Amino acid sequence: MKIESRLAQIGSQKDHVTGAVSFPIYQATAFRHPALGESTGFDYSRTKSPTRSVLEEAAAELESGDAAFACSSGMAALQTIFALFSSGDHLIVSLDLYGGTYRLLERIMSRFGVTATYVDTNDLDQLGASITPSTKAVLIETPTNPLMMITDVKKVTTWAKSHGLLTIVDNTLLTPYFQRPIELGADIVIHSASKYLGGHNDVLAGLIVTKGEELSAQMAVLHNSIGAVLGPQDSFLLARGMKTLALRMERHQSNATAIAKHLQKHPAITEVFYPALPEHPGHEIQNRQSSGNTGIFSFKVKDARYVAPILRNVKLIAFAESLGGVESLMTYPAVQTHADIPEHIRQAVGVDDRLLRFSVGIEHVDDLIADLDQALEKAMQEFK
Ligand SMILES: *Cc1c(COP(=O)(O)O)cnc(C)c1O
Repeated sequence: MKIESRLAQIGSQKDHVTGAVSFPIYQATAFRHPALGESTGFDYSRTKSPTRSVLEEAAAELESGDAAFACSSGMAALQTIFALFSSGDHLIVSLDLYGGTYRLLERIMSRFGVTATYVDTNDLDQLGASITPSTKAVLIETPTNPLMMITDVKKVTTWAKSHGLLTIVDNTLLTPYFQRPIELGADIVIHSASKYLGGHNDVLAGLIVTKGEELSAQMAVLHNSIGAVLGPQDSFLLARGMKTLALRMERHQSNATAIAKHLQKHPAITEVFYPALPEHPGHEIQNRQSSGNTGIFSFKVKDARYVAPILRNVKLIAFAESLGGVESLMTYPAVQTHADIPEHIRQAVGVDDRLLRFSVGIEHVDDLIADLDQALEKAMQEFK
């Protein structure tokens, strides 16, 4: 069955008790045992809970994995994954990384003796140079946020396998609708489901999808032991959001493409970073490994002084910190999402004070362009 149909029908045929088309919220922590040594399959909701199970089964299937684990946030999912590693272990990680992941590795995991080296993961020479006898895994984001750098997933997973390393892919920006890293050889996929999967800027959630029996069993132990699991209400909201993922992603993509092209020609803008544009350095790889593009892009304004008036004057577009929802949001990565990344690393990858990130929503493209144009015009007037 095609992915659109599978998404629309998440949980719709799973309630065999009442036939409810929308799978119910089972707000229970404990489940009665029929008799000694017997179980309904549910005992205590940290381990397994019905509403969460429906979501997890759907996520595993959509990402072509063997098991999925719903967590209380994307960061909780990453922490659970990092618990696979022990003191002395080393990871190779994308240089242009989500700020929260960098903070988790550098402030917390480092205290437990897990270290990381940050490289351009599309460069096999850099990967080769950073491997040590203690290296256990490669963690990649593609596209990266906010600079939209593309990594060839197949190239990395092939290299990682030949060195006995796991490949972990943060697939938040593309979702399984556009990209399925496990089909490209990845072992673990992680999502901040707070973004596109939930899609409505109203639920905080994370998902882990694993490939392979042993890894899936190991992750089940970590998920249950750590306990950063997703509650029934949020599991319901996330599954509900995912039913419209296909429609939303198509609109995010078409809106973002049209606006990125518009901004490329705008006198207040010097650069637009969006893999759907033919001049983007990752355009070809992106087209090969994904069936579409995310709704986020970033751009640099001509003068850093434009940033404040733009963020002050946008009306339809909200100046806010998330991404991937139906509402358009604009962020200033250098001081918000990426503030925890040291200045020299930010400068090296290009997250500077002229960079703005735009998470394009599903509003009408004409309204979004009009809103941007008036804000850019005011910024240019203020500092001409
Ligand atoms: C937001 C985000 C995270 C963290 O997820 P939360 O749900 O906010 O905890 C991780 N990776 C990427 C790429 C993100 O955008």
